[in-house]
Amino acid sequence: MSGVIFLGTGGGRMVVLNQMRHSGGFWLRLGDVNILQDPGPGSLVMAHKHVLKPSSLDAIVLSHRHIDHSNDINVMIEAMTGGGFQPRGRVIVPRDSLNEDPVVLQYVRPFTEIVEIKEGMELSIRNINISFPIRTMHPVETYGAIYEFNSMRLGYIPDTEYFPELAQVFKGVDFLIINVVRMTTDKRIRHLNIKEAADLIGSIKPKMAILTHFGLQVLKASPDHQAMLISERTGVRVIAAYDGLNASFEGNRV
Ligand SMILES: [Zn+2]
Repeated sequence: MSGVIFLGTGGGRMVVLNQMRHSGGFWLRLGDVNILQDPGPGSLVMAHKHVLKPSSLDAIVLSHRHIDHSNDINVMIEAMTGGGFQPRGRVIVPRDSLNEDPVVLQYVRPFTEIVEIKEGMELSIRNINISFPIRTMHPVETYGAIYEFNSMRLGYIPDTEYFPELAQVFKGVDFLIINVVRMTTDKRIRHLNIKEAADLIGSIKPKMAILTHFGLQVLKASPDHQAMLISERTGVRVIAAYDGLNASFEGNRV
């Protein structure tokens, strides 16, 4: 069975700092491979709440170092590795999460294999292939990802400002998870707004798109309603994630 469980769907300062939505990232179960993407604040608590075992993780992937994506990375590395006594898994992060002002602490690094993301990099974990086809446009080093499993592809568009190459790179993925923080653009913080997300979904044309990482503007505008509007406009099945959503990638059902 393959699917995704959302340990949080909040994004942006107001929503995350006030925990109007949780912020633990999402847990991918791709066959027998478990991967945690973007363990923001509360990821450990939410994983346990959803009866997920951090010790079963094969990898923790960070799109970028901002605290709403990375806060729990160290505690999750400890949880993945039995407090460091059972070294395992991989921690796959941008270079600037390791170097100056590192978010991955030095003392946890020997517990796991640290992999530095480079644009275009591909790697595999058993029968799952992960690629990082594009660095996005965000204030810190940020990478989108494509997960390949069972001849299907799941794309993840993390925080980014809009740029047309996103549509080309993710074109044809079967499933798309896309971070939509804003209704309107604020150039200072470099995030997608809802119209840009809709444009991307319309040109990428996945079988199913899941919106997540909502800021206050999107929460006020009802993520469900926005998902419905994008569905009507693009003909793509679009879902607004909620905390705890468990979506299956088998047979395109939820
Ligand atoms: Zn960010």
